[in-house]
Amino acid sequence: MAVSFAAVNLRTMALRSSSKLLRRSSHLLPPIHMQHSAPPLTRKISMNARSIASQLNRSGLLKTQGLIGGKWSDSYDGKTIQVYNPATGESIADVACMGGKETNDAIASAYDAYRSWSKTTAAERSKLLRKWYDLLMAHKEELAQLMTLEQGKPLKEAMGEVNYGAGFIEFSAEEAKRIYGDIIPAPMSDRRLFVLKQPVGVVGAITPWNFPLAMITRKVGPALACGCTVVIKPSELTPLTALAAAELAIQAGIPAGAVNVVMGNAPEIGDALLASPQVRKITFTGSTAVGKKLMAGSAETVKKVSLELGGNAPCIIFDDADIDIAVKGTLAAKYRNSGQTCVCANRILVQEGIYDKFAKALIDAVRNMKVGDGFGEDVVQGPLINEAAVKKVETLLQDATSKGAKVMLGGKRHSLGFTFYEPTVVGDVNSDMRISREEVFGPVAPLLRFKTEEDAIRIANDTNAGLGSYVFTNSIQRSWRVAEALEYGLVGINEGVISTEVAPFGGFKQSGLGREGSKYGMDEYLEIKYVCLGNMKKE
Ligand code: NAP
Repeated sequence: MAVSFAAVNLRTMALRSSSKLLRRSSHLLPPIHMQHSAPPLTRKISMNARSIASQLNRSGLLKTQGLIGGKWSDSYDGKTIQVYNPATGESIADVACMGGKETNDAIASAYDAYRSWSKTTAAERSKLLRKWYDLLMAHKEELAQLMTLEQGKPLKEAMGEVNYGAGFIEFSAEEAKRIYGDIIPAPMSDRRLFVLKQPVGVVGAITPWNFPLAMITRKVGPALACGCTVVIKPSELTPLTALAAAELAIQAGIPAGAVNVVMGNAPEIGDALLASPQVRKITFTGSTAVGKKLMAGSAETVKKVSLELGGNAPCIIFDDADIDIAVKGTLAAKYRNSGQTCVCANRILVQEGIYDKFAKALIDAVRNMKVGDGFGEDVVQGPLINEAAVKKVETLLQDATSKGAKVMLGGKRHSLGFTFYEPTVVGDVNSDMRISREEVFGPVAPLLRFKTEEDAIRIANDTNAGLGSYVFTNSIQRSWRVAEALEYGLVGINEGVISTEVAPFGGFKQSGLGREGSKYGMDEYLEIKYVCLGNMKKE
């Protein structure tokens, strides 16, 4: 399939992201601009994006087809879906828009490949994973550019994601050799009891747009290391990074069918993965609503399920915190990826004695953050992913201010237009406002005041979510007390960025099931088999 650098209809662009559903089915409807009477405005793709895209195309990393059984494939009915640059609204490429049929073929090829891949030695799998890691790192800049182009995050942050994402492949290469079983002392002298760990089988991996590489490698690395094969479904908003990573997996020598990629019609692809008895595990990162559907849908064939879902992270600043460390940590925890991560601080709880001083220091720091196209120099805040994301921020902010919250900085769309939003600080927020109960997923820091340590813990735990949390204090005793009391899978103490491939990542309550990364993340792709050898006495 040719990569299209079509002229872009700006009016279409303004409307295209207002609803995922609308875009997903846009190939079935007349073009969106034709549904409106205003004359369309057009402009060509910028030279910057065009030259990056052509460079990627030349290096063979700009893939637009799905990957089934080791072959790049168009969708069977020829439908495509456009991928856009959220910073400019320009079209980057048309990619195959796949559905149930392609997914079933991808499952069949993964099932076929499983027979041989699961029989390879740990050392063989480790070598190939290591090679994949080396290729990801060798193409770090191109992958980062691709990510900035389709997701909007600043290039420096995108480079950081390549390091982080590739790290899961490197860690899995090492850990492949350490999938040990057990020998259990038998209760009877004529028996020997063993525990074997075996791959679970074919894995369906569904991932979101906010970390287009790392959310994939975090699943595929351990799956392959354990001897599983995978069908990946990246987000329709950011499939290009996933496809480039899959191309590098092929170049690394990972056999045909072990890694498959399908994208397009998410419900159809999801349904095919759920319905197949050959798919033995679903691993999902995304919204809690979709995660619940996948969990329910897995019941029919009793699949193993791992879910990394939404958060509502509290960031607690105690009176005794070092204010510079607290501001630096809060900036990182709140504004990374323009506030679009599942572990972004969603509620900043500030003790009353330090509230005014902290708010002023935070505002001063936020004011200095440069907003712009992720390729721009010194830019630390890119655009939001789409119009729906901006609307959500506006709705939650409007709800908060109507109930007494005060905008202290920002609070509106950025003059750059498109989906840029001003980095915002809003004070006098309370727990009844929607902004405290839902993920804002944008560059808005809501400040809530609290009196005592008990208050902070109660407010922090008053949510169905339980993923990331942060505590800023200079008291060792308090940091232990609060870390133990928080009902969260991750706690950062005096630190705003804590994710790493070597530590377990995952949520309590409705933030998910299972863990990714570290030795614990390997268990998600393994079955435990107990073997009893009896009658030892007689020869
Ligand atoms: P989303 O709408 O749930 O989408 C996630 C993935 O699921 C996408 O690939 C999406 O496809 C797909 N999908 C949607 N409906 C589906 C269906 N019926 N069947 C199968 N797949 C389906 O979430 P998002 O908006 O992309 O991501 C943001 C959310 O992810 C936030 O809530 C965030 O907190 C969470 N998140 C969690 C973690 C974590 O580790 N806990 C990490 C990152 C993000 P399309 O995009 O193609 O529609």
